[in-house]
Amino acid sequence: MPTDPIVILGAGPAGVSAAWRLSQLGHPVVVLERDAAVGGMGKTITVGKYAVDYGPHTFHIRETEESRAIHHAIEPFFGPDPLILTRGTRVLLRGKEYVYPLEMLQVLTGVSPFLSARIIFDYIVATIKSTLAPPKHEDSFEEWGVRNLGRTLYDLCFGIYSERVWGLPTSQISSKQAQRVAKLNLKNVILRTIGIKADPATYFTKYMYPRQGISVLFENMAAAARASGAIIHLESPVVRLEREGGRIARVVYLQGGVEHTIACRGVLSTLPLPALVGMMSPALPASVAQHAAKLRYRSLKLIYIALRRNQLTDYHWVYLLDSQYRVNRMSEQKNVSSSMVPPDRTVLCIELSCWRDEPVWGATDEEVYRIALADLLKMGYGVTESEVEDYYVADIPTAYPVYELNFEEHLIPVLEGVHDVPNLLTLGRHGLFLNNSMDDNVLLGMKIGDHIGGGDFNSRDWLSQMLAFMNLRFEGK
Ligand SMILES: Cc1cc2nc3c(=O)[nH]c(=O)nc-3n(C[C@H](O)[C@H](O)[C@H](O)COP(=O)(O)OP(=O)(O)OC[C@H]3O[C@@H](n4cnc5c(N)ncnc54)[C@H](O)[C@@H]3O)c2cc1C
Repeated sequence: MPTDPIVILGAGPAGVSAAWRLSQLGHPVVVLERDAAVGGMGKTITVGKYAVDYGPHTFHIRETEESRAIHHAIEPFFGPDPLILTRGTRVLLRGKEYVYPLEMLQVLTGVSPFLSARIIFDYIVATIKSTLAPPKHEDSFEEWGVRNLGRTLYDLCFGIYSERVWGLPTSQISSKQAQRVAKLNLKNVILRTIGIKADPATYFTKYMYPRQGISVLFENMAAAARASGAIIHLESPVVRLEREGGRIARVVYLQGGVEHTIACRGVLSTLPLPALVGMMSPALPASVAQHAAKLRYRSLKLIYIALRRNQLTDYHWVYLLDSQYRVNRMSEQKNVSSSMVPPDRTVLCIELSCWRDEPVWGATDEEVYRIALADLLKMGYGVTESEVEDYYVADIPTAYPVYELNFEEHLIPVLEGVHDVPNLLTLGRHGLFLNNSMDDNVLLGMKIGDHIGGGDFNSRDWLSQMLAFMNLRFEGK
């Protein structure tokens, strides 16, 4: 008698990698994806005449054994002649461009002598304070930043920008949010400036990218999974997980508006945790749903602006740190892969973050474009409105898990409640509520395949592994 398949919810980087790995190991796998294409947030979309990523997406190459092993395994999926890129990031601060990660000498000589003296003075004060009275408990993003950088540098480079990105005062954001900049205290900034190598896991500077867009990677991986027997249903949103004796027995999804049911051996979910909890039938204990309702996501509007010019900048990303901006970041697709945009045009992607109950989330495309354009005109690159060929707006409703203070008081009971179901495992950015990147999620997809290898889901053991993994990332490793 054939075994029931493992059902994977979501065909983003985590779901597709898990499907690839498990099908290679000989497990029957069915993937259910709501969208019409694989790749999740790591996909390439068409806006008017142009192919662009759904928000800028390059695949990180970290100088670690683990990262090298992943690259080796998935390199063929990048397609012919993949691009190896060196990080090209700038920040705009007080009207000037700085390289990122910040090079201290450049900042200290770029700002006024008065401000530069204040940066150094505040840093010395902060260092003395934290040496005399080291923090005893978990603090906020703001306390972490001021302790590591000094008030002036923190406000200039992180405070204003982070409040805009996260939509909260940084005193209400957990210091865990600092994972990506964990090694960015002034000492490290100085060490890097004088060329002493910094932590290889945090300071990756290389990326890999398929010439025709990030989708190529996940389309090819999905094709390899299919070739090994995996079934991938697109345009098939999951609506219900039916349990019997605590275990998930069946997954119900929609196709063309009609409900379909698959009997399953177990489920791997990459869906946002609150959505997953809401799909359980019978429901998990009420406390799990109450905690899940406290997990919040920041949403993004992506405003693509096509300009009638060859190129605007040389950079992949430009971060906008000053308070005069409403948007967070601008990227230029052509600078990632010149094959994707014709020579006489360039397409920018401008990111605006918001809550879904803010008016801007429901604003018209024209209104959102006007906000982005106003900021673009302020950036100092000499853009004029007459150069705009067209604009397009795309939404990402659950772009960033938000780490409010003590968010773990809600996250841990949700993860525990979900993994109390013996044949349900979660992975990926939304399955762990972890602000991580595609290489991480490919790694998790491969790990979960090996975890289930013998056939047992062992959900408690998987959860312990994932909590350890998340802690490493929170420590910036
Ligand atoms: C603006 C932005 C830029 C980024 N840039 C980079 C970058 O440069 N490099 C990098 O490595 N990472 C980057 N990331 C992070 C990267 O996008 C994520 O780490 C990665 O996509 C997460 O993969 P995932 O499979 O866990 O989740 P997702 O990509 O979110 O995939 C989840 C999938 O589940 C599907 N789904 C949801 N609900 C249902 C349902 N009910 N039924 C069926 N399917 C469903 C979704 O459609 C989606 O396809 C960026 C993220 C953002 C927001």
